[in-house]
Amino acid sequence: MKPEQFPEDLRPHLTPRPEGEMVYDCLACGAKHPSDQLLYTCPGCGGLLLLRDLQFDRLRRRPGDFWRRLFDHRLMLNERATSGVFAFHEFLAPSIPVEDIVYLGEGRTPVVPAPPELAREVGAAFCFKLDGQNPSASFKDRGMAVALSFLKHLARVKSLGTVMAVCASTGDTSAAAALYAASLGGAVKSAVLLPKGRVTPQQLSQPLGAGATVFELPGVFDDCMKVVELLSEKYQVALLNSKNPWRVLGQESYAYEVAQQFDWELGDLALIVPVGNAGNVTAILSGLLKLVAAGAVDRLPKIVAVQSERANPVYRYYRQPLGARSYAPVIVRPSVAQAAMIGDPVSFPRLALLAAEYEKTAGGPSFFVVEASEQAIMDCMLLANRRGLTICTQGGECLAGLKAALAQDLITPSETAVLDSTAHALKFVDFQNAYFDGRLKDEYGVSTRPELANRPRELSLRGAPEPSGTMSKADRELFVKTAAAEIAAALDLTPKSA
Ligand SMILES: *Cc1c(COP(=O)(O)O)cnc(C)c1O
Ligand SMILES: [Zn+2]
Repeated sequence: MKPEQFPEDLRPHLTPRPEGEMVYDCLACGAKHPSDQLLYTCPGCGGLLLLRDLQFDRLRRRPGDFWRRLFDHRLMLNERATSGVFAFHEFLAPSIPVEDIVYLGEGRTPVVPAPPELAREVGAAFCFKLDGQNPSASFKDRGMAVALSFLKHLARVKSLGTVMAVCASTGDTSAAAALYAASLGGAVKSAVLLPKGRVTPQQLSQPLGAGATVFELPGVFDDCMKVVELLSEKYQVALLNSKNPWRVLGQESYAYEVAQQFDWELGDLALIVPVGNAGNVTAILSGLLKLVAAGAVDRLPKIVAVQSERANPVYRYYRQPLGARSYAPVIVRPSVAQAAMIGDPVSFPRLALLAAEYEKTAGGPSFFVVEASEQAIMDCMLLANRRGLTICTQGGECLAGLKAALAQDLITPSETAVLDSTAHALKFVDFQNAYFDGRLKDEYGVSTRPELANRPRELSLRGAPEPSGTMSKADRELFVKTAAAEIAAALDLTPKSA
């Protein structure tokens, strides 16, 4: 729709202008640092940072309905910069000018309800938000769009020259980082650190294809993270892990989209999110809190964070009684929810802070953490696929988490659960195939449920067509006939009556 066709009061706001006053806010010492620089930790105390808009209160001067209408109308505006996560510019990163926005098609991912049969089997109505339908096939693109837009902006206003961007990754961060860096055409080069053998071949192919410099390190993600942290301390590099608070801002868009996709009524929802480095769950909490603060929603949904029992430091923290909790990293064991296989989540201090603020704002228990077995994760992923939903292993983790939350009465069947399939199923297809072949037992402790396994069938044909096409016409006809007959027998097909 053309701008002049929009309601008059919204027209001046359709294309956002830079506004607000973003600062880095240190969670440890409370110091505020100007946001016209690259910071990952507090220069004063080394603490973790969040970005805050010191002028957030300006958003409150308009009624909540203004924001709902503006964001709903932007869905009809054909402006690329605000077609992705920057549709929520005022809430997200209002200091970034529209001209610097990097848009590769991220965001606006679909919410798909589970078919009734699957809902019955699970015991509650639920939907999946398919965040694998992002440009690099995971939600990481949401954060990367903002991190790279900021980098582009900073490089322009400060004439930085070529920037080297680095990240450690369980696979998807590097795919997103490499893609968004590549889109800037040489202004930003990327280098990614991956734990060798702990990302899937599909994930490894992504940064290679986008031209990043790829390093495979022995160890697990947590080891790679320590290396990039040191690199970002000692050298002139841009860190693209979710320690970079601009990433967190971008990932808030998930919360805004869910609110919009449920007509801004969140009271009867439960959002189920897998947790690795805890950047995503932090961003979702932060986004929801902003929506309430601005009056765009009245009530908060429940949040259920899920971890594999093989990488569960957040679960272990929250199962301790309130007031007597202590955090300790865990040594991870191999998990099929490999993208969340993290023993010492970098964003844990952010999560602890925001989860407490969230429960205070919601006025009661509303943030829960459950754990899921490797077996449940795989079975749930495959079960969903059997009912028409393709989700990644972390999506399977969410479904296993939903079952656990229902069993523990943390959520009731009257609530609608929204599960995050954080990546595309095809990135993790090797786990499916290993499950079918019974190869997940030793390393992951997962047994194959025969009713979920599936293999291609071969026919006992002789004289198959050659690529050179030397088969005679008669032989080819015979081939088609015998193949059809064998398939019809295997499928027990009823012949058409003459
Ligand atoms: C990164 C990632 C996660 C974990 O998200 P965090 O922000 O690290 O907690 C989960 N699923 C997928 C597919 C991911 O790429
Ligand atoms: Zn500090």
